[in-house]
Amino acid sequence: MRARPWALSFGWSRLNPTPYSSRRSLPRRTPAGVREQPDAILLDLHGALVAENAADGEGELLAAIRRLAPTTPIAVALDLHGNVTPAMVASADIVVSFKTYPHIDMAETGEHAGRLMMDLLAGRTRPLTRLVQLPLLSHTLRSNTTNEGAMQRAVEAARRAEQSAGVLAVSVMAGFSLADFQEAGVSVIVVTDNDAALADKVASDLAQQIWRDREGFVYRSEPLAQSIARAKAMQAESGKGPVLLLDHSDNVMSGGTCDTMDVLEAALKAQLSPILVGPICDPQAVQRLWKLRPTDVVSADIGNRIPLTQQGITKKPVRLTGVVRARSDGEFTVTGPIYTGAKVSMGRTVLFDTLDALIVVSERRMEPYDMGIFNCVGIDPSRFDYLLLKSRMYARPVFGAMAKALIECDADQGGPTSSNYALFKFKNIRRPVYPLDPESAFHNS
Ligand SMILES: [Zn+2]
Repeated sequence: MRARPWALSFGWSRLNPTPYSSRRSLPRRTPAGVREQPDAILLDLHGALVAENAADGEGELLAAIRRLAPTTPIAVALDLHGNVTPAMVASADIVVSFKTYPHIDMAETGEHAGRLMMDLLAGRTRPLTRLVQLPLLSHTLRSNTTNEGAMQRAVEAARRAEQSAGVLAVSVMAGFSLADFQEAGVSVIVVTDNDAALADKVASDLAQQIWRDREGFVYRSEPLAQSIARAKAMQAESGKGPVLLLDHSDNVMSGGTCDTMDVLEAALKAQLSPILVGPICDPQAVQRLWKLRPTDVVSADIGNRIPLTQQGITKKPVRLTGVVRARSDGEFTVTGPIYTGAKVSMGRTVLFDTLDALIVVSERRMEPYDMGIFNCVGIDPSRFDYLLLKSRMYARPVFGAMAKALIECDADQGGPTSSNYALFKFKNIRRPVYPLDPESAFHNS
């Protein structure tokens, strides 16, 4: 082994997602480091990349790297929501994913992949990988690993299996259904020390457990008015702190527009107050509000700027009257457990006060997983009765800790990441698949 090992990262920057309307394709050029035949390649990938020119984005990327470096060991650390394909596994020696959602074990997963790579390089092990794909679309809210659900049971079984002699890594992939990709769905990846029978058995046992538990991966939304009424009732109960309204119809890091207004409108209609909302991404509104003085009372159109083309839905901005209480460059350093220490920019950001709601309006999309989204405009969220956040899960480690209750909210009229799969025209996903096809069967020997 040469003195200077290479470590290449192709990590997808989820901190500053590209605008919803923009399209990007895979780079045609591979970094020069691969051509220089490094000793090892460590990749930090998500696993559910779909590009216009590559349905299996990471599968093609890994195959391209493998062609350039046919004998170089490759280890991949994945997000738990990757849609893992045979092409991905065939081109990598080691594949390991997060075991938590909300994802708070990113460093541990990288360390795990790195440790297995060091063992491989030292000749202590010969990793062998098995993938089992299930005909099962899990809902993201059902990949929570902190409750007593099917996903948590699967991950616990994976952790137990990792304690067995010869088992190097066991990963439960929840998949990402909204990718509308042929191989989207739940899968299991097992890495053993060159023991094919053991890898087959561990993967098969775990896959069978998940299939028996398949109903536990399905989520059914309640009507929005019912969610809002529950939130109101929760706030009336004793205890301190806000009630979280988590808008999973516009989950920012799942491709949400960060600008739909359904949940806020329903909350205002039900007279929930005071509500802290953040952020709503609306560069047009920021452009106008940025110039105002603190005494200027204005009616401003906010949100619903981006048409939901996949669902054939176009919503109108909501006109709200209020004043601008604060302005910020929208930049902060993450202090919470997700992407700790990362520098984030929401672009120019204003705090718009409508009396009932205080709304953080930003130029860029940002999933609210860190206190910085409110601190940057000088607001302490714990003082509010309700917090409206466009986040299914990432908001929970920070804001769940201060909240007295948490209500999952879905928009009845559709949203970019709605939990109602009937709104989406799945064209590419494999069929039959559970729960779209209730009679789906899983056979794995
Ligand atoms: Zn994820």
